[in-house]
Amino acid sequence: MARKEKRNTSSITQIILGIIVLAIIFIVGNNFDLDLLKNLTNDVESNALENVDRKQQNNEVTNVDGNLIIDYINVGQGDSILIRQGEHAMLIDGGTTECKEELLECLKSKNITKFDYIIGTHPHEDHIGSLDDVVNEFEFDTIFFPDVSSARVTTKTFENLVLAVANKNMKFTTPVSGKEYSLGEAKFNILAPSSTSYQSLNNYSIVIKLNYGENSFIFTGDAETLSETEILNSYDDIHADVLKLGHHGSTTSSSKKFLNAVSPKYAVISVGKDNTYNHPTKTTMDKMLELNIPVYRTDELGTIECISDGKNITFNTSPGSYDYMGD
Ligand SMILES: [Zn+2]
Repeated sequence: MARKEKRNTSSITQIILGIIVLAIIFIVGNNFDLDLLKNLTNDVESNALENVDRKQQNNEVTNVDGNLIIDYINVGQGDSILIRQGEHAMLIDGGTTECKEELLECLKSKNITKFDYIIGTHPHEDHIGSLDDVVNEFEFDTIFFPDVSSARVTTKTFENLVLAVANKNMKFTTPVSGKEYSLGEAKFNILAPSSTSYQSLNNYSIVIKLNYGENSFIFTGDAETLSETEILNSYDDIHADVLKLGHHGSTTSSSKKFLNAVSPKYAVISVGKDNTYNHPTKTTMDKMLELNIPVYRTDELGTIECISDGKNITFNTSPGSYDYMGD
């Protein structure tokens, strides 16, 4: 009996030891990702310094020579936007994992060899699904990604992107709201995020305003009303000629105040045909109709090309309908 009891005790000890080992593996595993991410992020410059001039951003008009070409690439239910100015190129998001072949083919067909900037707006799969493949296939100078450390994102898609960037010996650059960058003769400012802690991952979205001559464009990722309000509170002038509507035309985004402040001449929605998320919604499309804003949408028109010569904006297609999927 005594022997049996001893065996039982040793089995229990083994089980407890096993649990402890598993717990250590789990904790170390999670920290590994977070540490790797930390090491992958460039030092963030002080927000306070950047905030000084924030309200004076975005008003400068410079003379330009040549065209700015924006392709809102049809990646189904997701975002991927290619922006070219002369020899310079930038990619905002890389669609879903499913769109890999089409996306890479599209980028190669435009003779892209190197990006000045890649932006991963936020960690959702419909925005960074094939971004690891883009990172693997193309050279780039800078890759922006929001500081999502407080959100403790542990998805495989995100991990793939982190590893792809690490394999290239590159680091993420954390966006600083208000900071300005050049893309050839175009300039863009980071408008959001302005915090490093949000409940919704969508609000981590990097939002930029790009100026080319007299024309301007806002790209929103999936930023929701909360982020739109933060932008409104931080900037006096956020007018833009073309607005890529946030979150695929969902009700979570495109608040009336934001739309009124941006006052776009044209709107673009990147959205999948017959998507299961019911995007875009009636609420959003009614606002477009009410404000008489033509809407270019990838589910109806495929890849949309928009060209600016610094004064005039032209699209390769007529606008789409105001049809909607959900409320
Ligand atoms: Zn999305």
